[in-house]
Amino acid sequence: MIDVKEEEKVSSSGIFDQLDLMEHEQLVFCNDKATGLKAIIGIHCTVLGPALGGTRMWNYASEQEAITDVLRLSRGMTFKAAISGLNLGGGKAVIIGDSKKLKSEAFLRRFGKFIESLNGKYITAEDVNMSPDDMEYIAMETRHVTGLSENIGGGGDPSPVTAFGVYMGMKAAAKKAFGSDDLSGKSVAVQGAGQVGMHLIDYLAKENAKLYVSDFDQKRALKAAADHNAIAVGLDEIYDVDMDIYAPCALGATINDNTIDRLKCNVVAGAANNQLADEEKHGNQLMQKGIVYAPDFLINAGGLINVGIDYLGGWSKDRVYKKTEKIFQTTLDILNLSEKEGIHSQKAAIKLATKRIHELGKIKTVR
Ligand code: NAD
Repeated sequence: MIDVKEEEKVSSSGIFDQLDLMEHEQLVFCNDKATGLKAIIGIHCTVLGPALGGTRMWNYASEQEAITDVLRLSRGMTFKAAISGLNLGGGKAVIIGDSKKLKSEAFLRRFGKFIESLNGKYITAEDVNMSPDDMEYIAMETRHVTGLSENIGGGGDPSPVTAFGVYMGMKAAAKKAFGSDDLSGKSVAVQGAGQVGMHLIDYLAKENAKLYVSDFDQKRALKAAADHNAIAVGLDEIYDVDMDIYAPCALGATINDNTIDRLKCNVVAGAANNQLADEEKHGNQLMQKGIVYAPDFLINAGGLINVGIDYLGGWSKDRVYKKTEKIFQTTLDILNLSEKEGIHSQKAAIKLATKRIHELGKIKTVR
């Protein structure tokens, strides 16, 4: 949730300064020469519970880039868990390298051993370039892993739950913007018809929304168009379409200096993480333009709710969807707080998340 300027400040200072600035508890470097494993685990906050967040494998251009990424992502997980009412803290891991070349059973199990050495302070799951099958190898070395396939007793693919939460958040934002959460006849531009985007498109099509879709992979956009009577648009064209709602479901930072004045919508609600390139600047600009922004880390929390309940115990599909449905009311509460206090909605969401951490941190009964 840290903005671009803060990130620049982070990457130009020493490691302990970076931890101070982002308020991290711990950064763990894992190195195994034999398998080529180079991983960094970021533990941001464990006040509410163990730090849960997926592992991302990426061919980072530098070690600093990997550190910046893990600090930013793990901090975001703290807010996401807190706002979702989970007794979990925020963490994330990154593995440096080419996932197609480096991953092997030994490599993944070695990583599992490192996670085990933290005794449950950090719990992993899948993220970019890590699959449920990879989690199975990690699980051979540690219990502190979630996101396993349903056929081996895990909570399965989190994407459908994430899409449901985004749909709930979008409906709440529509209620605030249009006075009704009914999306029929509303034009929605979905950027990215991937795992989450496709499920979101299903919900929106069932409600008779008018759909525009873009995807880097043209075949996906055309499939969505054919299956759901959507209109496929170009990668750049999507910012200019005549839309009521913009749903970024591909990349982060798509609300930036180049796009913000092109958006003619009343609502922004999508699955992507870190949608605002500069949180403070673009959050304020959206507010000034009268665009209702559904905070990304709140409305895309369905996947975390799924893996979080799976880890904490008592997982059932019904329970997960009921908890995810609450995103509707939480979004409304945050949008009302934003209006009342004259602060942008992302800031209001962080304020509520931080309040929960501070209140529960004081009574110290959370696990
Ligand atoms: P995905 O990789 O399955 O889908 C992303 C899609 O976006 C792909 O089809 C890709 O071709 C497309 N894309 C890439 N660049 C694009 C561009 N410039 N314009 C249009 N389309 C583009 O990913 P996903 O699992 O569906 O996740 C979507 C977003 O939501 C990601 O930002 C992810 O971090 C976030 N998210 C996902 C989950 C989850 O449960 N999967 C949970 C929380 C947040």
